[in-house]
Amino acid sequence: GKPPYDDSNIFARILRGEIPCRKVYEDQWCLAFHDINPQAPHHVLVIPKSPYISFADFSAGAPDAEIAGFIRAVGHVANMLGFEESGYRLLANMGPDSHQEVPHFHVHLFAGRPLGPMLV
Ligand code: 5GP
Repeated sequence: GKPPYDDSNIFARILRGEIPCRKVYEDQWCLAFHDINPQAPHHVLVIPKSPYISFADFSAGAPDAEIAGFIRAVGHVANMLGFEESGYRLLANMGPDSHQEVPHFHVHLFAGRPLGPMLV
């Protein structure tokens, strides 16, 4: 079956303040911070504060207010960092076939250069 949420994953440790991050935005629902290995001039991760592994876990398991809060936060971060005008890409990896490295649901925001066609 599906593995349970692993509290020792790197984003859980960031949320607990055990390891630092370059914070972009935080509210009651989520935290946004710069990716440690940026794939674009701007590469930000937005994560819910609650423990979800996948989009299915999040969308089925989170209260409506938390889902709304998370989606608004992603939009707010894009606005705040000025991505609205030149554009940006959202991406989320889920599970082994997607090469998800960190088993805590997260959305990537990429911006700051023409990103090229989506490859997959
Ligand atoms: P995934 O492949 O799971 O969608 O993406 C995980 C992302 O987390 C990768 O882009 C990776 O660079 C980033 N990452 C991994 N460890 C850390 C860390 O300790 N701090 C930060 N800020 N990002 C990390």
